[in-house]
Amino acid sequence: MAERNVRHIGRAMEYPYEGPPPKKQVAYVFDTNKCIECQTCTVACKTCWTSGKGQEQIFWNNVETKPYGGYPLGWDRRLLEVSNPAHWAKDRLESKTIFEQKDKPTDPPLGFRPVSDDYRMPNLGEDDCTEKLAKGAHFAGLHPTWMFYLARICNHCDNPACLAACPRKAIYKRDEDGIVLVDQERCRGYQECVRACPYKKVFYNLVSRSSEKCIGCFPRVEQGLVALCVESCIGKIRMHGFLETNSQPREDNPIDLIVRIRKLALPLYPQFGTGPNVYYIPPLHVGLGFLEMMFGPGVEQSLSMYREIAKDRQLLGALLLFGATNHIIHRFAVEGNIAVGWNEAGDELVRVPFTEPTVIRDPFDTKAGAYRHNTT
Ligand code: SF4
Ligand code: SF4
Ligand code: SF4
Repeated sequence: MAERNVRHIGRAMEYPYEGPPPKKQVAYVFDTNKCIECQTCTVACKTCWTSGKGQEQIFWNNVETKPYGGYPLGWDRRLLEVSNPAHWAKDRLESKTIFEQKDKPTDPPLGFRPVSDDYRMPNLGEDDCTEKLAKGAHFAGLHPTWMFYLARICNHCDNPACLAACPRKAIYKRDEDGIVLVDQERCRGYQECVRACPYKKVFYNLVSRSSEKCIGCFPRVEQGLVALCVESCIGKIRMHGFLETNSQPREDNPIDLIVRIRKLALPLYPQFGTGPNVYYIPPLHVGLGFLEMMFGPGVEQSLSMYREIAKDRQLLGALLLFGATNHIIHRFAVEGNIAVGWNEAGDELVRVPFTEPTVIRDPFDTKAGAYRHNTT
């Protein structure tokens, strides 16, 4: 057992695996306010990585509608129902994580294993709202009736429950980038990882009889490229990069700035204790109670920061870089009215203006000798 300081819960926790933090940690920021649930990310991941036999119901990337959607069925509700309710004293978790809710230290983390049928309807609950809209209802500040889209991939956690639970030590976390992988040669398909992962992001392949999960698109990351689900995102809701692990967070690293310095983006269910590395900007239109259950005690501060974002040009500059390039941005700066991003080698990748220029086109195109106007 190793004692670890878990940033997300503001205290130390015993974790059944000894290992130093990776040199740098892969991390993602997803802005829930921008997701349109087009599922382009889901299809991009599926067609590239999981189109083989036994993978028909496996979606390493999925997008579900909250509050009722969930893939596999009820993945979060079912765990929340059997675990202690989260109790926070400011930023410190007073209740127990999934690693602490067990009888013996050698027991696996608290969890459950879904059955095959739970994977059958990945988009059940799509667009279902919390209640029916009353006749004549209109928007008045906070939506009384709401739903929002939650895009999900493996969190490449700091303290992966999947890794801790594997009796074969077939799961490992890469030192160079913190990506969590299943060694297919070592895996014997015991599915302890499937049971333990609170996000249910390890899947059992009935044909290969082994477990598999999101590989963080590591062949692309090794070339300095963002993951496929990030590059393909239509809504430009995603940013992919690295958190500093061995030094202080840097203001010029967009992920450090958004996650650790400003704390605009928050981890999903931090009370589980795995230290997830997909960070979400919570939706503006949903009530605090539900959001704090999902994203912890930082929600109110995050929402007010998001509402006032125009006043924070550094933070706004970082958000403008979402979806602007298919390369990983390691450093950025705001230069006048432009956000500039550089790669690890220091080469400039992209420039995004704060205000897009407006071009009013002459309806008659002299070059083509034709009128170009909207036809409806
Ligand atoms: S591609 Fe982007 S906008 Fe579309 S569902 Fe996925 S995360 Fe949402
Ligand atoms: S999200 Fe689940 S599968 Fe991914 S690293 Fe964390 S515990 Fe493992
Ligand atoms: S990071 Fe790559 S493997 Fe993981 S969900 Fe996204 S596209 Fe799929």
